[in-house]
Amino acid sequence: MASATGTSATSSGTARTSAPPLFAADVYRDRMRRAAELTRDAGLDALVVAPGPDLRYLVGSRAETFERLTALVIPAAGEPRLVIARLEVPSLAMSAVGDLGIEVADWVDGDDAHGLALAGLTARPRIAVSDSMPALHVIPLSEHTGATPQLATAVLRELRMIKDAAEIDALRRAGAAIDRVHARMGDWLTPGRTEREVAADISRAILDEGHTEAAFIIVGSGPNGADPHHEFSDRVIERSDIVVVDIGGPVEPGYNSDSTRTYCFGEPQADIATAYAALHEAQRAAVAAVRPGVPASTIDAAARDLLRSRDLADHFIHRTGHGIGLSVHEEPYIVDGNDIPLRAGMAFSVEPGVYFSGRWGARIEDIVVVTDDGCESLNNRPHELIQL
Ligand code: ZN
Ligand code: ZN
Ligand code: ZN
Repeated sequence: MASATGTSATSSGTARTSAPPLFAADVYRDRMRRAAELTRDAGLDALVVAPGPDLRYLVGSRAETFERLTALVIPAAGEPRLVIARLEVPSLAMSAVGDLGIEVADWVDGDDAHGLALAGLTARPRIAVSDSMPALHVIPLSEHTGATPQLATAVLRELRMIKDAAEIDALRRAGAAIDRVHARMGDWLTPGRTEREVAADISRAILDEGHTEAAFIIVGSGPNGADPHHEFSDRVIERSDIVVVDIGGPVEPGYNSDSTRTYCFGEPQADIATAYAALHEAQRAAVAAVRPGVPASTIDAAARDLLRSRDLADHFIHRTGHGIGLSVHEEPYIVDGNDIPLRAGMAFSVEPGVYFSGRWGARIEDIVVVTDDGCESLNNRPHELIQL
């Protein structure tokens, strides 16, 4: 075992670009300390966190390993350890993890990596594993502990759901970046082009405006707009179409944007204008309902009740929103039945939609952050049906 601190950062032959800016080491040390407390509170002996959003949250790691076990082990008592294949250690030293002084337990092919991960814990430790851990690690770990592990989400939810000032700033930058993409929509979204051509231009713009990746692009024209899961197709956009554009991706250090606006190319038909106006009111009512102490389900009800009053409830076929951060979809979910009280620092989407199968659809989506007395919207483009 060796500490990663001071480990030589040269890896044989492979040139690696230095990692983009992450948070300060103290931020990660504090997160690990609080994760250990929550582990203790949950009556567990340790969290075992594989590469994915939880690992990125806790130590800033971008590691993407699969069959070779990489795991951050946070015991309820004692120091965190990083279990990692020896051949991954050089790249580890190049990442933020190298600055944290975490004890590294390295292993080579043939070693019992799962046993190593549990070393130092009680004989039959109660552990929780991160959602993103592959079954090929969960099952061997279960065989070692003699029990099915719990999910670390339940433990880490409390931490990841409440964003600190630096995280909110990152989400704010992501929101502004995707707003700039929507602002340029008229450059690409025109009748006669295919959804795929438009999506390609949007993809470039998402990168140009500061994202590291175009994580998802929905261009739903005409009847495709009525399918909330449509991405884009070779359909040629027509002048009479309503077009749903739902786009986003991560900005450094990994926090996501996600914003939907709906476009058209001339005066919409009267029935479309009426339904859209109701949707607009529903989205505004839901945002206006956001403040600390209110159950998440109340925000969903605010949008749904408004649409029900206009006989449109049957056309709103999904939850009102989802938390966002290092994952595009995370807790808290803004859905009927989720009565978790909102707290300052929570960030989530407010995205009601109306869908008319075979004809058209519309959605309006902003990311909001709960403040002490309401919320801050991170997306600030006009909410009207935007005529290009
Ligand atoms: Zn979206
Ligand atoms: Zn969304
Ligand atoms: Zn979504």
